[in-house]
Amino acid sequence: MGRGTMSASDWLAGADRTSPWREARVVVAGLGRSGFASADALLELGASVEVVDDADSGATADRGKLLGILGGRLTLGPGSSAVLPPADLVIASPGWRPSFPLLAQAAAAGIPIWSEVELAWRLSHPDRAVPWLGVTGTNGKTTTVNMVESMLSAGGYRVAAVGNVGRPVMEAVLDDAPYDVFAVELSSFQLHYTHTLSLHSAVVTNLHADHLEWYADPDAWPRPDSSPYEAYGADKARIYERTQQACVYNVADLATEHMVEEADVIEGARAIGFTLGIPRISMLGVVDDLLVDRAFIAQRRDSAVELARLSDVHPYAPHNVENALAAAALARSFGVREVDVAQGLRALRIGDHRIQTVAEVSGVTYVDDSKATNPHAAGASLRAFESVVWIAGGQAKGTSFDDLVATTAGRLRGAVVLGVDRDVVADALARHAPDVPVIVLERMDTEVMAEAVAAAAAMAQPGDVVLLAPGCASLDIFTGYADRGEAFARAARGLTEG
Ligand code: ADP
Repeated sequence: MGRGTMSASDWLAGADRTSPWREARVVVAGLGRSGFASADALLELGASVEVVDDADSGATADRGKLLGILGGRLTLGPGSSAVLPPADLVIASPGWRPSFPLLAQAAAAGIPIWSEVELAWRLSHPDRAVPWLGVTGTNGKTTTVNMVESMLSAGGYRVAAVGNVGRPVMEAVLDDAPYDVFAVELSSFQLHYTHTLSLHSAVVTNLHADHLEWYADPDAWPRPDSSPYEAYGADKARIYERTQQACVYNVADLATEHMVEEADVIEGARAIGFTLGIPRISMLGVVDDLLVDRAFIAQRRDSAVELARLSDVHPYAPHNVENALAAAALARSFGVREVDVAQGLRALRIGDHRIQTVAEVSGVTYVDDSKATNPHAAGASLRAFESVVWIAGGQAKGTSFDDLVATTAGRLRGAVVLGVDRDVVADALARHAPDVPVIVLERMDTEVMAEAVAAAAAMAQPGDVVLLAPGCASLDIFTGYADRGEAFARAARGLTEG
């Protein structure tokens, strides 16, 4: 069929890298790093690309300049996203909610909306396709992806850790370096607009309340009577659709197992559980001080094989053992040997601000888990220590702290709460831990962290841990979780022995 006889809407449903992209008008909504990579790739294929972003300064402006040189059209600055330009396809950035005018207009007009991940998957076919091992879940995504990457590297595979971990998948697809496999972190926002992805293997590490403000948007719901939490879970569950080899779930989290049961997978794909207990058949788990595999061995009916020791997991905490088991399941589904699972765990240094010891003063240990940005993560962190002075608060994102406080009250020596939603945390403490002393800090600038650390130090006894595990996002006061963690570490290191 000659050019022009077919419109883009006819071929987009099955589009790949070889499609006639020159005929397509694509609107890239949001000029972050992944939006830039998408626009860059589409321009290279000859598509007509218009980039829209309500910001027009800093990194956005710099990226815009570059895309302008490459032939992209730019609509930047306040109000830019109010009206959808003529388009056959829209690429949506993760921050954009479905009810944003531009996306709502696209949906109403029946114009396909893809995430950058969907675009990367399409453009990797047919000639750059490698297997993808995918990770989503409320907590532990980045840690698990880094563990998978380390295990695959130990096994000699050329692997890229991409997606929500930092480097957009699109960049790796454009990269000329030959990869054997990608370890991909997928957020619920990315999965929302992902439609044809077919992972080699996938895991949902766990499911708990987070990002409920994004999902308060009824346009994001699968059904008119959905709840925000259900909509969030429905997007997470999309990771299992069309899985080829292994759907890995958390035995302790029934929601993840149900997602696997409901998923439409490629014939032959297996359900594989991970558990901190003794594994049943088709699970990975723990026996004594060993991580073991009873899924990817021929004799799984009556035996299991050792993968690693608990002491290979750093920093050691039960939730990191879960992450290690989830990662091992993905790696084993790809053929990684036992020794390389252990070697991968030993070689890995988990990123900063994730249960990182930053100071020891007067017998008290100061631990930075600024990355604990929702109550479930903060709970995992609190459970890793016996006696804690807890620093919490920030943006609660519509979540509740009741369960968390009720289940960890016995470990709390005291608490210091701060940030815009300090009362959400303080009220939960008052309800479920009335005997725990609580200090509420009012100030809303970065100096508040020094006050928090001083107040926590005054409460702590030798042997205690002062733990920054805010259970909240940081943007009310800080530029991000790293900024918040650094403020904590500086203040802790500035304390003098007493
Ligand atoms: P994500 O990428 O999902 O945000 P990270 O691996 O960066 O997760 O870990 C973020 C925080 O979540 C950690 O600092 C820790 O407090 C907590 N966490 C990590 N893994 C788990 C888990 N498996 N279960 C519960 N909490 C976890």
